[in-house]
Amino acid sequence: MPRTIHIIGAGLAGLSAGVRLARPDNRVVVHEATAFAGGRCRSYYDASVGMTIDNGNHLLLSGNRAALDFLRTIGTEHRLIGPPVAEFPFLDLKRRARWTLRFDDGRLPFWIFDSKRRVPGTHALDYLSMARLLWGRPDKTVGETIACKGALYSGLIEPLLLAALNIDPPQGSAKLAAAVIRETLAAGGRACRPLIARDGLAPTLIEPALNYLRAPGAQVRLEHQLRGMRFAAQRVEALDFGDEIVALGDADAVILAVPPYAAASLVAGLSVPNEYRAIVNAHFRIAPPAGQPPILGIINGTTQWVFAFPGRLSVTVSAGDALLDTPREELARTIWAEVAQAAGLPAEPLPPWQIVRERRATFAATPAQDQKRPGPRTAWRNLLLAGDWTDTGLPATIEGAIRSGNRAAELLRQMQP
Ligand SMILES: Cc1cc2nc3c(=O)[nH]c(=O)nc-3n(C[C@H](O)[C@H](O)[C@H](O)COP(=O)(O)OP(=O)(O)OC[C@H]3O[C@@H](n4cnc5c(N)ncnc54)[C@H](O)[C@@H]3O)c2cc1C
Repeated sequence: MPRTIHIIGAGLAGLSAGVRLARPDNRVVVHEATAFAGGRCRSYYDASVGMTIDNGNHLLLSGNRAALDFLRTIGTEHRLIGPPVAEFPFLDLKRRARWTLRFDDGRLPFWIFDSKRRVPGTHALDYLSMARLLWGRPDKTVGETIACKGALYSGLIEPLLLAALNIDPPQGSAKLAAAVIRETLAAGGRACRPLIARDGLAPTLIEPALNYLRAPGAQVRLEHQLRGMRFAAQRVEALDFGDEIVALGDADAVILAVPPYAAASLVAGLSVPNEYRAIVNAHFRIAPPAGQPPILGIINGTTQWVFAFPGRLSVTVSAGDALLDTPREELARTIWAEVAQAAGLPAEPLPPWQIVRERRATFAATPAQDQKRPGPRTAWRNLLLAGDWTDTGLPATIEGAIRSGNRAAELLRQMQP
């Protein structure tokens, strides 16, 4: 008889575990508390802009190998779009200067010797500070490891780490920063091509994963929130969904792929990160002008990145906690003024807009919070953890979430009864 694997949470960690485990010898059941799959990576119809949008712009890089492997498996890798080479156009709003960072495909960074391809105002030797970050001490912050000032910092290190760690970089963990640099800049341009789900997160990452799961008979139960677990000495005996108690057979297992605060409420005594950082997104219904790059970095503004989608320009502000209490329309107007300047569009009228503020977008990537991240195993042999907040060695990202799901699935495969 096949064993049943209950996956709690249909975010990318839970879905990637499910995709790995949906085989004839496993019965996979995914239980999701809300009415939709995708968790923090989702699309929805927004009446204010009159179109389906993503909760937030999500950027992948060509070096995100687990994410790309996941997309290949579910058949949607071709839905990611990006330039054929690793290039990032930037605009400094204060200095009104534009430039494009262009990395070499290989690992050798010839671009830092080329004043047309590196950050304006920097010299090749400045880039040695990146090496200091690579070999920085794991218990230190970025601010304790490198000087967080100067042209290289504001033109490359700050935007890269702000986006990847979702924290003001000086407070960020040097270990997590090193992991990001190792997997991106240090791996060469082939790992740094920016990739965007142009048609939306749900049609690219989520719905095809659900179809892939359902094809061999996996069940996906939406609005089915896990309320508690019954623990025996070494195993979980039953799952409590409020109106239904599900008893677990000897070979059955559970992958808990919920956010850290939910995991802590379900497993007493579990160490989890408990500080968060917000991400703010602004969406404007307007056709991007001809020549607008798919992604544009902005320096010296509230806006950090402008993404161009069909019929829409969308903005990301990472570590956006200071904007959580700004009145929505004021924020939309501030950001639109910057986007209009960047895209060469009229500042008036304000196009139809939406502001999406995710307060707990990611755990705060400080050294102290990083140390609270648990591994996948628990004190109960049939209970494993997954999620971008578990100890993946990466900051909270799609890549980290998918690697955590793969890792939990692999451990369960090894425990095959
Ligand atoms: C606005 C925004 C922008 C981002 N941008 C990027 C980006 O550009 N690049 C990038 O790589 N990453 C980005 N991220 C991070 C990325 O979205 C996350 O790392 C990833 O989606 C986390 O997946 P997860 O499965 O670990 O967690 P989640 O997506 O949080 O999934 C957990 C799921 O568990 C469910 N759940 C909770 N409690 C229960 C329960 N008791 N029973 C059943 N189900 C439960 C939740 O409803 C949820 O669906 C961004 C995040 C946000 C919010």
